[in-house]
Amino acid sequence: MGLYRERGIVLRTIKLGEADRIVALVTEGHGKLRAVAKGVRRTKSRFGARLEPLSHVALLCYEGRSLDTITQAEALEHFRAVREDLDRLSRAVCLLESVDAVVQEGDDDPRLYQMLLGGLRTLAAGPAPLLAPAFSWKLLAQQGVSPALDACVRCGVGDDLVAFDVGEGGVLCRGCRRGTRITPAALSLLRRILGGDLVGVLAEGPSPAGDELEHLANRALEHHLERRLRAPGILDRT
Ligand SMILES: [Zn+2]
Repeated sequence: MGLYRERGIVLRTIKLGEADRIVALVTEGHGKLRAVAKGVRRTKSRFGARLEPLSHVALLCYEGRSLDTITQAEALEHFRAVREDLDRLSRAVCLLESVDAVVQEGDDDPRLYQMLLGGLRTLAAGPAPLLAPAFSWKLLAQQGVSPALDACVRCGVGDDLVAFDVGEGGVLCRGCRRGTRITPAALSLLRRILGGDLVGVLAEGPSPAGDELEHLANRALEHHLERRLRAPGILDRT
């Protein structure tokens, strides 16, 4: 049973017994992790306060048979600017919730921690209205779900792409259209998000194309989660 150090972002906490909590985190080295923090609800412990959702913390943990235990937590970032602004806070909560829902325990891709930390720092620096949809599409791509955006998924035609279908996994031309309508502005924004111009997109203000992409991202996330729930072997993995 070894001790180890980690850095992580708290996604949520769950009450355990009289005084303890289970803390779900995205960590740098162990990916998504659940660990027990003992005694944090019995006193007004500063230890417990450091393990609130959204906190970026440095941890000392020891390995357990089923769950690891957090023995020390040191705050690295509070994201105060995010916590004090209801609008930004609700967007930060969306990020935490989508990571919690989409990422499975044991997924130790270090990009997850970098993505979430980068997202929260972006929110701390400014309102970034397009962060939520951009983050959702990046998260889906990290999970291996990258939509086809350059040609119709049915017939291969490369122009007059007017629809997006989450089941088909990409865009469709006017002749094959099904799913949701997508405007050229939203398609161009999505191409930029997934094609390397994330920084440029995050600097932009709110737009109808951004709202459209957010709606579409939510549908794509839902579709991804539903399909995974129906997949065989899910009970073994959770
Ligand atoms: Zn087509």
